[in-house]
Amino acid sequence: MKSSAQVVVIGGGVVGASVLYHLTELGWTDVVLVERKELTAGSTWHAAGGMHALNGDPNVAKLQQYTIGLYREIEERSGQNCGIHMSGGLTLAGDRERMDWLRMAQARGRYLGMEMEIISAAEAKAMFPLLEEQYFVGALFDRAEGHVDPTGVTRAYAGCARQAGAEICQHTWVSDLRQRPDGTWDVITDAGEIHAEHIVNAGGLWAREVGRMIGLELPVLAMEHMYLITEDMAGVAEHNAATGRELPMAMDFDGELYIRQEGGAMLLGTYEQACVPWSPHQTPWTFDKQLLTPDLDRIAPSLEVAFKHYPALAEAGIKNVINGPFTFAPDGNPLVGPVPGVRNCWVACAVMAGFSQGGGVGLTLARWMVHGDPGEDIWAMDVARFGNWASLAYTNAKVRENYSRRFRITFPNEELPAGRPLHTTPVYDRLTARNAVWGAGYGLEHPLWFQRPGEEPREDVTFRRSNAFPVVADECTTVRERVGLTECSNFAKYRVTGAGSAAWLQRLFTNRLPRVGRINLTAALDPGGHIVGEFSVARVGTDDFFLFGSQIAEAHHSRWFLGHLADGVRFDVLGLSLVGLSLAGPGARDVLQSVTDASLATEDYPFMTFRRIDVGMIPAHVGRMTYTGDLGYEIWVAPEYQRALFDLLWQAGQPYGVGLFGFRALMSLRMEKMFGTWAREYRPIYTPVQARMHRSLKLDHDFTGRAAVEAELARGPARTLGYFDISPDPAEPADVVGDEPIWHGGAVVGWVTSGAYAHYSRRSLAFGYVPSELAVPGAMFEVEIIGQRRPARLLPEPVLDPAGHRMRA
Ligand SMILES: Cc1cc2nc3c(=O)[nH]c(=O)nc-3n(C[C@H](O)[C@H](O)[C@H](O)COP(=O)(O)OP(=O)(O)OC[C@H]3O[C@@H](n4cnc5c(N)ncnc54)[C@H](O)[C@@H]3O)c2cc1C
Repeated sequence: MKSSAQVVVIGGGVVGASVLYHLTELGWTDVVLVERKELTAGSTWHAAGGMHALNGDPNVAKLQQYTIGLYREIEERSGQNCGIHMSGGLTLAGDRERMDWLRMAQARGRYLGMEMEIISAAEAKAMFPLLEEQYFVGALFDRAEGHVDPTGVTRAYAGCARQAGAEICQHTWVSDLRQRPDGTWDVITDAGEIHAEHIVNAGGLWAREVGRMIGLELPVLAMEHMYLITEDMAGVAEHNAATGRELPMAMDFDGELYIRQEGGAMLLGTYEQACVPWSPHQTPWTFDKQLLTPDLDRIAPSLEVAFKHYPALAEAGIKNVINGPFTFAPDGNPLVGPVPGVRNCWVACAVMAGFSQGGGVGLTLARWMVHGDPGEDIWAMDVARFGNWASLAYTNAKVRENYSRRFRITFPNEELPAGRPLHTTPVYDRLTARNAVWGAGYGLEHPLWFQRPGEEPREDVTFRRSNAFPVVADECTTVRERVGLTECSNFAKYRVTGAGSAAWLQRLFTNRLPRVGRINLTAALDPGGHIVGEFSVARVGTDDFFLFGSQIAEAHHSRWFLGHLADGVRFDVLGLSLVGLSLAGPGARDVLQSVTDASLATEDYPFMTFRRIDVGMIPAHVGRMTYTGDLGYEIWVAPEYQRALFDLLWQAGQPYGVGLFGFRALMSLRMEKMFGTWAREYRPIYTPVQARMHRSLKLDHDFTGRAAVEAELARGPARTLGYFDISPDPAEPADVVGDEPIWHGGAVVGWVTSGAYAHYSRRSLAFGYVPSELAVPGAMFEVEIIGQRRPARLLPEPVLDPAGHRMRA
């Protein structure tokens, strides 16, 4: 074993092997993989090897597509048989909602170049004669699905990496990890030490334990998972003989099961409701290529459906039942990337579908390590999407929810209940008493809307307009015509202090820093000119700033700021040590003025002012801005004051007709003002030029990414963020939810990033990226909403108050 290497990858499952392979592909060949037993000894060896490209997140779907496309290549190059069966796959729908979901999935796949067909139940039956047609209304067929041999694939990755110079040490256990002051690592194993510049935790079933070696509690949990293999079946042999083809794989949502051909038999796996975590506190190091005791009673409800949907199965004997553990993160997506706050430490774990995702995970992690950028949109997989709040018990609750919902639809307006409420702000009980319907983001509860008195605070889940629609419309009217009050603590908040803060931030930000007492909007870019984040910057002293950004990006952004920190500068994540309430609407000034001595007249407190003032008896920082695009104020206080502040503003607002509004209304209001949002319009794959962040882009100073911005401005951006007015189907209106394809001239040319019904303007609006040459005001497009292509006109400016008079009034 080498005593030093550029990278040590810990774990020789399919994911570690893929990371190793991709590092060598990118030219990092001084790399070592350390495996405690033999390759595949974790969850990899007993996997069913199924692979499919379909995923609720189109960017993850793209990486799954990449993974599937890789197998032939690594098979050829390594000479290792991967057992590739491209049998195609059916996703079967038993009802209208599921059919809608499949149509939306097909539509999303279009802009990724995925060719999937919607077929009838009869066509599905013709492809898969074992099924009973009466239980299905249709299906999605994807040719690019199938199954592989898990061991063959892992060895093929390893073989290619070895050919390129990588070293693989099996039967070598990493028992400890120690970081040196220069950020490099001593990897302690039972066969000696390796000094490494970088470490990658691809520990699979033991990723949590490997994390603990450096004091990290990764949100990963293993679940037991069962599949069974039948005796050979006559129906299978008949189909093979008659068609010359293998049966396709099938996913059956009602049965919560997947089924595929295995030799002359069928393999059937379930994601049962009565799911069971495995080793929830500590994975034993002694576990080695073992299986768990099967429990057929647990999967009996799924088997009952299976015997109804595929009657021949009931006649077939069971040859084998496999029960094995594999890992999940709370939302079911992998954890990939640099660990926030720990130098040269990377993770590639919680990969629950290693044979669909392993290649994409390896590719993006290797690019991130070698080029400093994953090269694809991996927001849904970034380890930084969870903060320290994702504790062991939270992970346990969420993973069980996720596992048992694997084949359930999660509607775009659905808020899943497990692990909640976790973080609440002090006004939580007050808002609950006023019938708030709650949502959660980054562990924090925030009000979505306020149900009418006497009615149950519950939202119907749907792809169309829900029972919230008329109530949110009223909330929007309150804001636009009187004054609305809402919780705004669900921003990420940071404080930057210390000599040199201004110079440091100026080098990072695309806009000039505001003067003391002012706020402005800015972006931060990577050297390639991609958006790392977008922030409101409030300056309270020469070297003293508050930054406000998207809450879900808190760990992502703070990882980046801390990774670039300058000497003498202090960067603090404020979290819930600073909470807020926001007043918005034409009456906002009158309400606030009635409880403060500070003059709020526009000449004294103009738009984009940020100052420390007293509100009643409460010390507050008050910014004159709101995301509603109306006259408004964000009032920031220490948490112990938030309830008093709420009571004060509520009382003071009564003469002005104050009403509460929630996040749904905010999203509607921001759409009619054409305000983009993080993780939708602004993501690390876009640039500020494409996203039309021109107001935040000042080329009069030097900042990271400036050269790339100038180059893009000179050649013109390839794509541009458009703002669309959509005509929904009048018979059954539905608005965009995001990721819908945008059509032009009979072809898919772009995709929707987000949208909403703008209640006050009575228009269905969307943002989306299209090729720049098509982004002409007035141009007509079509946006595909639940299988229907609806007309969409590209608008040149906000539908409400384009000159911004309301905000500045
Ligand atoms: C029953 C079952 C069926 C499945 N079917 C499918 C399927 O059809 N399709 C699909 O895509 N996925 C399937 N999966 C999931 C799939 O198995 C996993 O996604 C995949 O194996 C994850 O691979 P990994 O490399 O992350 O983890 P693992 O396979 O667990 O590998 C981690 C490796 O790290 C090693 N290691 C850990 N700690 C150390 C240490 N300290 N020192 C040295 N080595 C260490 C372990 O020994 C292990 O070999 C199934 C899983 C199960 C249980």
